[in-house]
Amino acid sequence: MEAFFLEMGEKAFRASQVMKWIHQRGVNQFQEMTDLSKALREKLEHEAEIRTPELAMEQSSDDGTQKWLVRLDDGNCIETVFIPEDDRGTLCISSQVGCALDCTFCSTARQGFNRNLTSDEIISQLWVARKALQPDPTTDRVITNVVLMGMGEPLLNYDNVVEAMRIMLDDNAYGLSKRRVTLSTSGVIPAMDRLAKDIDVSLAVSLHAPNDALRDQLVPLNRKYPVKELIAACERYLHGKPYRSRITYEYVMLDGVNDSPEHARQLARLLRDKAAKVNLIPFNPFPETRYQRSSGKTIDRFREILHKAGVITVTRRTRGDDIDAACGQLAGKVQDRSRRDVHFARIEQRVHS
Ligand code: SAH
Repeated sequence: MEAFFLEMGEKAFRASQVMKWIHQRGVNQFQEMTDLSKALREKLEHEAEIRTPELAMEQSSDDGTQKWLVRLDDGNCIETVFIPEDDRGTLCISSQVGCALDCTFCSTARQGFNRNLTSDEIISQLWVARKALQPDPTTDRVITNVVLMGMGEPLLNYDNVVEAMRIMLDDNAYGLSKRRVTLSTSGVIPAMDRLAKDIDVSLAVSLHAPNDALRDQLVPLNRKYPVKELIAACERYLHGKPYRSRITYEYVMLDGVNDSPEHARQLARLLRDKAAKVNLIPFNPFPETRYQRSSGKTIDRFREILHKAGVITVTRRTRGDDIDAACGQLAGKVQDRSRRDVHFARIEQRVHS
């Protein structure tokens, strides 16, 4: 944006002024940017455009969670979720229209894949959510944390995701702390290594199984990037970042599939001496799924085994499931264009490009 202003014969600092108007004050009209000269505002009207997406639908859960269906220019819709808690407000955003990874227990996977979101479509989810939350007078309706845990695999849309996260961290924009921006990945190892060098954010990894045989079935990407290599990549991610104490490992609790005491012991052996925190996610059902949620007792027993082995483990509280806003329930409206076999072959290519 600085280059854009310089090209117009303006000072570079106009960029930070406009950034603040857009991202901090939620303004999308140049006329309202009162610290720009009238002449500049008019010039911008002619030469530029601030295009913001449309909220196609808004739903509120009994527990205060809010979900928006965001309509993109091409007619596809993605979902964005706000989860208020006592001490924070977390916005869960999408990185792709659908997802190409085909994890068997995830509703997004069933929608298929259409395309990557652009960086502006990613960041605009913060913009629209903040705008939508603003009229609420209660103070807890503020976005303090962002998680890339919505639709899509963020590390398969690397450049756009990193650019959007830079705006989240930028003091001229959202100014979020690097501890409060979390990217969740199914484990695209080369991109994790790249990420460690490019930007400093928290990392969560969707593990879901303690061995390759089972993870191959649940998260097909595992066939390319198996468990041991994935854990090693996580350890590398933390290298040289002493203030980052742990990687969060997500583990969905599927009844009779990955939730036995033996699975817990295997997981404990895998993570015992690692900088790990395990997040157990009770499975969230969706239409026509073959899975069921593990019982509360099973989840407690699983957690206890990990805990006794010295692995920090918490059970993620289910939020927003009455409006299909919980983990793994996001569907949006995706015009499926996936030929999954082709996508798979291209994954590595894309990561390295
Ligand atoms: N593709 C990235 C980002 C999605 S994050 C990733 O895989 O990490 C969404 C999280 O919810 C992931 O950990 C995912 O595995 C988990 N999840 C998917 N389906 C779920 C379901 N039905 N119930 C609970 N968690 C689910």
